[in-house]
Amino acid sequence: MSLNSDIEWTDATWNPVRGCVKVSPGCKHCYAETFAERFRGVKGHPYEQGFDLRLVPEKLTEPLSWRSPKLVFVNSMSDLFQPGVPDDYVETVAQVMATANWHTYQVLTKRSERLRDILHAKLRFAAERENIWWGVSVEDRKYGLPRIDHLRDAPAKVRFLSLEPLLEDLGELDLSGISWVIVGGESGPGARPMKKGWVVSIRDQCREQRVPFFFKQWGGVRKGRNGRELDGRTHDEYPVRMSAPVPAEEMRLASARGIWRTIPS
Ligand code: SF4
Repeated sequence: MSLNSDIEWTDATWNPVRGCVKVSPGCKHCYAETFAERFRGVKGHPYEQGFDLRLVPEKLTEPLSWRSPKLVFVNSMSDLFQPGVPDDYVETVAQVMATANWHTYQVLTKRSERLRDILHAKLRFAAERENIWWGVSVEDRKYGLPRIDHLRDAPAKVRFLSLEPLLEDLGELDLSGISWVIVGGESGPGARPMKKGWVVSIRDQCREQRVPFFFKQWGGVRKGRNGRELDGRTHDEYPVRMSAPVPAEEMRLASARGIWRTIPS
């Protein structure tokens, strides 16, 4: 777990899975791939295997050891719902989130059909937890918009959209059942541009439909220069966060041992 994240809309990252396989145009300049591939072959480095998919069971109980409540981005370096991650493993990740409930988790995926299906089945116990926010990435109309309908069909208490990297005007959005919208442009070498009109349209629709709106960044090759103001101000709205008491260390250790007993060997 990384206690401090540079990602504007979270506090920390937790990666019980590393690596991924690209699925749609939003993956073209995947920052996680760029980062991971820098360390391929570096002996002993967490990304010694580059961006190849790998389960990291030794990270599973990490949130239980973390005392102060955090907003935790789950699998910032992967996608929990990709086909190579077994259902049982996904279920254990969800058990940790349900148990370490003094944190709020942000689970973001492009595999929205599996998210929908598993929240209806094995993950039903986690779907309606207020401390777990379930989200989909939407970069364009063709690949991204259907994911919103899949998410809406999932029995989640808190649903969110990450419209990043925003690659085109998304048109009229149905935000019913959606609790939070994040918008961001692509950054880094080869970044594809994002037009102001696309962002304004989403912000205005969020206002009309009373959905919290978070503007992450304009992006660009040098994202620091372009900043994150829209019409002279930042937009940093979030859904309401629930709070839960933090158990004593002994209880947290006992919970971690309980989780370990459920992990298939
Ligand atoms: S789904 Fe996410 S983590 Fe996986 S390749 Fe695409 S952008 Fe990267």
